[in-house]
Amino acid sequence: MVKPVKIFSSYYFTEFSLIFISFEILHFLIIGFNFQFLIASVATVFLLLILHRILSRRREAAVTQIRNVIRGINRNEFSSPGELILDESLASLQFEIREMYKKMKGDIEYLKKLERVRTEFLANVSHELRTPIFTIQGYLETLLNGALDDDKVNMMFLNKAIRHTENLNHLLNDLIDISMIESGEMKMTFRYFNIAEFLKPVLDEYGATAEGKGLELKGNYIREGLRLLGDKVKLKQVFANLIENAIKYTEEGKIEVIVEEEENSAKIIVKDTGIGLSGEDIERVFERFYRVDKGRSREIGGTGLGLAIVKHIVEAHSSKIKVKSELNKGTEIWFRLKK
Ligand code: ADP
Repeated sequence: MVKPVKIFSSYYFTEFSLIFISFEILHFLIIGFNFQFLIASVATVFLLLILHRILSRRREAAVTQIRNVIRGINRNEFSSPGELILDESLASLQFEIREMYKKMKGDIEYLKKLERVRTEFLANVSHELRTPIFTIQGYLETLLNGALDDDKVNMMFLNKAIRHTENLNHLLNDLIDISMIESGEMKMTFRYFNIAEFLKPVLDEYGATAEGKGLELKGNYIREGLRLLGDKVKLKQVFANLIENAIKYTEEGKIEVIVEEEENSAKIIVKDTGIGLSGEDIERVFERFYRVDKGRSREIGGTGLGLAIVKHIVEAHSSKIKVKSELNKGTEIWFRLKK
């Protein structure tokens, strides 16, 4: 419980006066009436009253100062903590009020930033949803307006429409993931697992896709007993995303998934010989909805959320994700897992 602040010990003064008067009454009862003693007592009470008045004034002045400062804060009259000034006798209170003011300002700034991010996110989501919906609507309307009977285009339009519904589904899944991660609902289960055994089916699965594009997907030799700590389900999502990206953004060459054992961890690298990224893009690829080439990304089913999700998952493993890339040479993305 918070204790009330006692300014200038006014409470002590009242207590002292009561004790003094009680003592005087007791004194008269014991030794009887004495004129000189009466005068002395009256003078003492009088002096005490004057002292009380002085102390009350000082207390009122202090309370007024505090009230003005609090009112100023409420009315947003201050722009920095240095403007909150109290008397020297209230130095410690001034310090506390300035600290409270700093924290309050910080919290407000943080909330405003969150609000901006939220609005921006909502605008992006609406835009991203609208694009495939309009495209699907366009194909369906064209079919209804006659293209349905045109054997040269009808199947093509239907296939395109279905591909955009898949994109839409992909986007909704990524949105669900992002919101679960950010609201803290995505729970991780960390266990030791054999990384070689874990990677084999992943490489097999994506090997076929890479081959279909004339690319080679390969892993390196991993010590058989190497066990790493992580959430296998979420890590599967990380590998899927990094390898899918590597395939999407590489036209020729190869994609490698390399596991380098270190003293207490293993460095995991996904490396491609694709289109690469320029300096500014490298900085921004982990932002939500950031895409170097929006049209191309959408066309090949990208949502712009993949790397943001990957970053969250890697960070939940107390690791950091890094990227090194050169335009038209290729990209390397890596992170570490504990042994
Ligand atoms: P998307 O769904 O668009 O692929 P991501 O968040 O996975 O979204 O990636 C963000 C952007 O980063 C992509 O649009 C692409 O421009 C760029 N990018 C990601 N991986 C690579 C890569 N391996 N090579 C080149 N560019 C990449």
